Amino acid sequence: MHAHIVLLPGDGIGPEVIAAARQVLDAVAARFGHTWDFATHPIGGAAVNAQGEPLPPATLEACRAADAVLLGAVGGPRWDSLPPQQRPEKGLLALRRGLGTFANLRPVTVWPPLADRSPLKPDRVQGVDFVVVRELTGGIYFGPRHEADDRGEAWDTMRYTVPEVERIARLAADLARQRRGHLVSVDKANVLASSRLWRRVVSRVLAAEYPEVHLEHRLVDAMAMDLLRRPAAFDVVLTANMFGDILTDEAAALTGSLGTLPSASLGAARNRHGHPRGLYEPIHGSAPDIAGQGLANPSAAILSAALLLRHSLGLEAEARAVEQAVLATWQAGCFTADLAARPEDACSTAAFTRRVVAALAR
Ligand code: NAD
Repeated sequence: MHAHIVLLPGDGIGPEVIAAARQVLDAVAARFGHTWDFATHPIGGAAVNAQGEPLPPATLEACRAADAVLLGAVGGPRWDSLPPQQRPEKGLLALRRGLGTFANLRPVTVWPPLADRSPLKPDRVQGVDFVVVRELTGGIYFGPRHEADDRGEAWDTMRYTVPEVERIARLAADLARQRRGHLVSVDKANVLASSRLWRRVVSRVLAAEYPEVHLEHRLVDAMAMDLLRRPAAFDVVLTANMFGDILTDEAAALTGSLGTLPSASLGAARNRHGHPRGLYEPIHGSAPDIAGQGLANPSAAILSAALLLRHSLGLEAEARAVEQAVLATWQAGCFTADLAARPEDACSTAAFTRRVVAALAR
């Protein structure tokens, strides 16, 4: 296969982890006989510095023309005092919206070698393997808002429409059908009108179109607790934009480090291969505290590349090979500083990546 992949390294540790993921994709190409052409474009603070805006039109156009997009992270203290429209995070929201990627899939897997790195007891996290499906282009992050005014008032609005909830419910139910057939939909229906609509629509879609999928509804506060009490009980978790943002960071802690969690953002658009043209990114931020020091854990970016192979290129065997190579690297005792038992034993970003590439070549 030949694929056109756009790389958006972004800020902080973004360029380091994207360089690692690129090396791994090159190793996949060599082993399986594929070719990729990569094009790199600025986003976030890097784009503000170079072109005065966080999502230059040429970056969005390049992403629209790609088979898939792999992004590092955006943001950092250098840009925190900019007006809201120019902030790096605005570029990311505009990219998700511009690509129409309304669904964010966040697999949460506690890989066996990481079980004793979790802040929870190993027996509690054993077998944790679920996917959070987060609505990504609606809700409070995109609703009408009012910046703080002279009267000291500011507000945001959580708004959902029936078609927005229907399409994400179908995507999550399709995924549940391919997995263990269990879907938990998370909302705040006891308080929020938008959540009551969400719950009604999810119930209707599942009852009418997916009778074989077992559906449960859970309030977001109870879910926050259950993620710690019985994380192995979940299969597919469906939720709105802001709830998903918060719950997935909590879920990330189960694995011991934010640096291990990949994500895939999918929409209706198809690429030249007939698969969704996805946006793939680690869930962590730009980690300015460790940028440029070789301390970043590249596994979330590398596992995001595996999701890219699976969802946008239909290359399941290649995706699994990448996941197995990361697993083998951990099994061999190579952990970056965020997961190493003692700092002096830690593998650098480059050393970890070399081990993954070597495992793929075997
Ligand atoms: P963060 O995810 O960047 O970092 C949180 C903590 O986790 C830090 O201690 C960091 O060192 C550590 N960490 C994160 N990724 C790591 C990795 N791969 N390897 C090792 N350690 C890792 O979150 P933050 O500190 O709240 O935000 C920093 C900046 O990133 C902010 O400007 C924020 O707006 C931005 N941000 C961007 C995204 C994104 O691009 N998707 C997501 C979240 C935050």
